[in-house]
Amino acid sequence: MDPLEFPPPFVVQHNVPLADFTHIRIGGPADYLSIIRDQNIFIEIYRFCRDRDLPFLILGDGTNVFFSEKGYRGLVAVIQFDQLNVVAKNAVVAEAGATLDQIRELCIEKGLTGFEFASGIPGTIGGAIYGNAGAYGSNVGEILTRAKILTLEGEIKFVDKSVFKFAYRHSDLKVNPAFILQAELQLAKGDPAAIKRQCDEIIRIRTHKLPPSETATAGSWFKNIKDEHGNATAAAKYLDAVGSKQTNVGDAAVHIKHANIFYNKGRATATDMLKLQEILQQRVYEKFGIRLEREVIYIQ
Ligand SMILES: Cc1cc2nc3c(=O)[nH]c(=O)nc-3n(C[C@H](O)[C@H](O)[C@H](O)COP(=O)(O)OP(=O)(O)OC[C@H]3O[C@@H](n4cnc5c(N)ncnc54)[C@H](O)[C@@H]3O)c2cc1C
Repeated sequence: MDPLEFPPPFVVQHNVPLADFTHIRIGGPADYLSIIRDQNIFIEIYRFCRDRDLPFLILGDGTNVFFSEKGYRGLVAVIQFDQLNVVAKNAVVAEAGATLDQIRELCIEKGLTGFEFASGIPGTIGGAIYGNAGAYGSNVGEILTRAKILTLEGEIKFVDKSVFKFAYRHSDLKVNPAFILQAELQLAKGDPAAIKRQCDEIIRIRTHKLPPSETATAGSWFKNIKDEHGNATAAAKYLDAVGSKQTNVGDAAVHIKHANIFYNKGRATATDMLKLQEILQQRVYEKFGIRLEREVIYIQ
């Protein structure tokens, strides 16, 4: 089949290795890939693909995904529109490609508290809403009030947070897909110096606990376990007990600093990662009767 022609203003590359767009550096080629810095162009390119029945995937910073060796037969849109504004009543309006780092910096500058928990979590606000990213007992779903979305039908809508049905590392976007264009986050007035101190402290703890930032990883591989009372136990506890750090499949390995962080030592494939996952899931199940569930998103 002849490659699809994308007229200006679309800028589309062909046959692009997705490993280059994932933090864990795993994935075969995308037929088409476009880096998008303008919200309107994103909307238009989605409608263009939809009219031609071309499969379409949205990607932020690629910190929570890995792709199969086959890659992606369609267009991958890498979101980099990232305008940030503080609006009335201490709310921040962030375009989907704004990173959590950018938002944290703005909060420090403007003296807004409530976002400290996200210090050091990599990725964009769009990706964070999709997976309800969080740490230290808080998550993005708690501070989101409204979002501007593009529906699969190509319509723009403003929706209330209830639409997302947030739960632990879950939003309804995983079930009923739509694209986040921008998000409104409700924060409160605080002291900039105290906010900065808390952010710095969280980053210090994370730096100590997690692999160095250049490690090819997608963060925690498995979700933590919640009992019927909602109390969480770190998946790392079970994984440590079954020797995860001493286990690897080729270049797919578990980092010495954290029993639940899988990483790519160089040439790992999705197949290697999934085999490592299965081995550890099986061991944890045999020893504790617990079925670990993957948090990282696999796109095939
Ligand atoms: C070292 C490291 C540490 C991490 N620590 C944490 C942590 O403490 N807590 C935590 O929760 N996570 C953590 N993560 C995971 C990751 O940082 C978060 O999940 C992050 O929010 C993902 O954002 P992203 O832009 O990279 O999303 P991507 O990986 O690009 O995408 C993730 C999913 O979101 C979808 N998506 C992306 N943008 C949009 C959009 N605009 N609209 C709709 N869907 C979209 C994608 O299609 C994909 O399915 C960590 C990851 C790493 C590598």
